[in-house]
Amino acid sequence: MALLEPLRVCVEELNESVSDLALPSLQSILSRITKACSDILCEKENFGQVATEVDQLLSQLISSTQKVSNPLLIETSAAVSDGAVEQNLSLAAKQNRRMSIAIVDDEKVSGMALAELVSEFNFNVEYFESIGELKKKQPKRQFDLVLLDILMPEVSTAQVFEFAAELTHLGTKVISHSGLFNFEMRLAAVRAGVVDFIVKPTSILGVIEKINRVLNLQKARDYRIVFIDDHKLMGEFYQTLLEDAQCEVYFMDSVEQMFSCLDDIYPDLFLLDMNMPGVSGLDAAKMIRQQKQFDFTPIVFLTGDEQLETKLAALQGGAEDVISKSTPPALVIDLLLTRLKRSLGVREFVSKDSLTGLLNHGQIMEAAMNSFRLAHRQKSNASIAMLDLDHFKSVNDTYGHAAGDKVLSGLGQLLSRSLRTTDYIGRYGGEEFMIVLVGASPEESVEKLNAIKDAFAAIDFEFKDTVFRATFSIGLADLAENDSLPHAINQADQALYASKVGGRNKISIFKE
Ligand code: GH3
Ligand code: MG
Ligand code: MG
Repeated sequence: MALLEPLRVCVEELNESVSDLALPSLQSILSRITKACSDILCEKENFGQVATEVDQLLSQLISSTQKVSNPLLIETSAAVSDGAVEQNLSLAAKQNRRMSIAIVDDEKVSGMALAELVSEFNFNVEYFESIGELKKKQPKRQFDLVLLDILMPEVSTAQVFEFAAELTHLGTKVISHSGLFNFEMRLAAVRAGVVDFIVKPTSILGVIEKINRVLNLQKARDYRIVFIDDHKLMGEFYQTLLEDAQCEVYFMDSVEQMFSCLDDIYPDLFLLDMNMPGVSGLDAAKMIRQQKQFDFTPIVFLTGDEQLETKLAALQGGAEDVISKSTPPALVIDLLLTRLKRSLGVREFVSKDSLTGLLNHGQIMEAAMNSFRLAHRQKSNASIAMLDLDHFKSVNDTYGHAAGDKVLSGLGQLLSRSLRTTDYIGRYGGEEFMIVLVGASPEESVEKLNAIKDAFAAIDFEFKDTVFRATFSIGLADLAENDSLPHAINQADQALYASKVGGRNKISIFKE
């Protein structure tokens, strides 16, 4: 009984805090609890009867939090909300585990070889000789993707597509591969929900590119968002939601605070509250727009102010979008993710190294500089690797410049697939690459880089009727323990030279 008043106050405060947000069912539960508590306290109701109801409501709250990834998303009505939660969950799941792929091909030798190669790109791969064999396993185990041969003995193509449709229905993506694709087959494939085709003979890099696209694994790293709102609670609320959607959120409660640390963050998007004491969101947007490096960074306002004039003022001040705080949270997240995807897509198009898809020279130097500063301030580990292809001139001389280009783009794919999304990879120039391994000392980085080195050396590059292989060497230096970035690069270069002299296809760490 003595605890009833504190409970009532607590629930009422919570209800007030969420009143700005479109969470009707949460609000309704909270109001009912508040009312029940008041009724007992002013003796309108008898404790025994109402206590059961309060108990049920509390259990309902608790069980909802267990059903949804984020307790703040206890909304069941809006379909869009469910969709976003599912999407966020699946994205989160994707980032945290290796995707599983089944390869079904009656040609055992080439099928197994393909499985082996694909697994080098950080996927879990299993090979099956027939659909029957896969079916034996599928009830227990669901694959993210099935590479399905169309022409197989003992089953008709119609049966193969029927099976493809079953897989699609279960949420498994299907790519069909075959030596031959006529119009009828393509149509049947599309109708069965097949998402892409691979025409044999296959090049491994082409296959990986399709897999990445189909599984939506192109995202190079988490999105970085700077969020400013003078209400801390609002900040915490959206921070949790955005973090569930794989965004890194830097929340600050004033514009002044933001400007003091912008150089270290390099956000992909600004999310600003409009009305704040002191410097308003509108002024902040204008100040951001004065800085050239944020020319292409979207600014989005989140505001409780529904006035048309306010929206217009925001757009004129350089904002991309104005979202009302009464918009269902899941929809807000969806809108932000769409913005981010599009703006990063555009930025990638204008600025990434076009051959390898990696950061270009200026960007990797900038990333290295930021990592250097951050490692010093946070006293965390970081290392820098210089990678150079071995005897690349002779690759060009023997197989031609186009074949050389294929090697470079293949290496780009392998590096971005294999390293952590928090690492930075760039084309330093020509056939030289720079990698910044965040949070890892050179000693800790060696094992990972060795695995990548071996995987790369095993890739067959095709040239007319022959295949060839290529290797690279790496020099590693400690970025955190160095007094300057140029010094660290110089040390990595010296270590690279040691790898070359030591026989190439090697990794060395700089030693005094
Ligand atoms: P080392 O093992 O000592 O590094 O030998 P190397 O032949 O790789 O080194 P070198 O610096 O002599 O040659 C680098 C070659 O890389 C020469 C250049 O034509 C080639 N290269 C640089 N950029 C590109 C590119 O964009 N495409 C192609 N195909 N080749 C490139
Ligand atoms: Mg070179
Ligand atoms: Mg070289």
